[in-house]
Amino acid sequence: MHLIDSIKEKIDLVQLVSEYTKLKRSGARYKGLCPFHSEKTPSFVVNDQHFHCFGCGKSGDHFTLIQELNGVSFPEAKRILAKRAGVEISDREYERQDKVFYINEFVQGIWEKGDKSYWVSRGYTEETIKKFGLGWCDQVHWSEKTWYLLHDAGVYKDGKQLMFNRASIPLKNLTGRIVGFGARSLDGQPKYINTPETDIYKKSKYLYGLYESKHSIMKLRSVYVVEGYTDVISLHQRGVENVVASCGTAFTEDHCNLIKRYCNKVVFMFDGDSAGAQATLKAIKTAVACIVTGK
Ligand code: ZN
Repeated sequence: MHLIDSIKEKIDLVQLVSEYTKLKRSGARYKGLCPFHSEKTPSFVVNDQHFHCFGCGKSGDHFTLIQELNGVSFPEAKRILAKRAGVEISDREYERQDKVFYINEFVQGIWEKGDKSYWVSRGYTEETIKKFGLGWCDQVHWSEKTWYLLHDAGVYKDGKQLMFNRASIPLKNLTGRIVGFGARSLDGQPKYINTPETDIYKKSKYLYGLYESKHSIMKLRSVYVVEGYTDVISLHQRGVENVVASCGTAFTEDHCNLIKRYCNKVVFMFDGDSAGAQATLKAIKTAVACIVTGK
């Protein structure tokens, strides 16, 4: 049997959808509130192989659902679902993207075991440090065979490790895989070094904290958008868990599309200076345009 079909056969679509929205049986099908757009009466219908929304027109199968709701590519959706179904994917199915994830996760495995004293000195608890995978950018030793991959992943730049002797923050995507890192200096400049854009990390489409916050955002149907990594982490520690950061880039339409699947209220909380005020006005304009045009 083809890989796609055997995955579909092993995973109940109704159960999969139920992780994103509550479904109720309605005749031979199931019905619920659409996870793709905000609505008060259910127009989202699911049968064993297919979903369709009579409100916004979205439709598809297991793979479309995971792609769209988690903002991942088809190969990544396939990987997630194969794992869940217990179906093996052969080596040749792995693509360059997977190798970049692998490099990042290998690095994180080392850095998260590193020195935590900076994070402790900032008042973060052991629980918070663990939840966000905070650590320290130690030197990682590689074989020369992996050099091109290290550059692809943005861990190396011009033959050298980009982040070194800094406090590390892993950047997770919606499925919890690591797409890059932020690294904070203790004294020197620049204050932050971030992974450059790669195949799996695009700043204009990335919101820090969405992985850790998505359940709370879905539950409360609202989100706070803040400026930096540590704003997200500090708020989580204080029990505010529906918060994401745009991390120094302007709030874009792609950012808006990412969060509007989960909530219908956005609160911008940028810095109180005039740059922050300008950024807030721009972000509100972007959000309104995105919602009005329904893109
Ligand atoms: Zn819909």
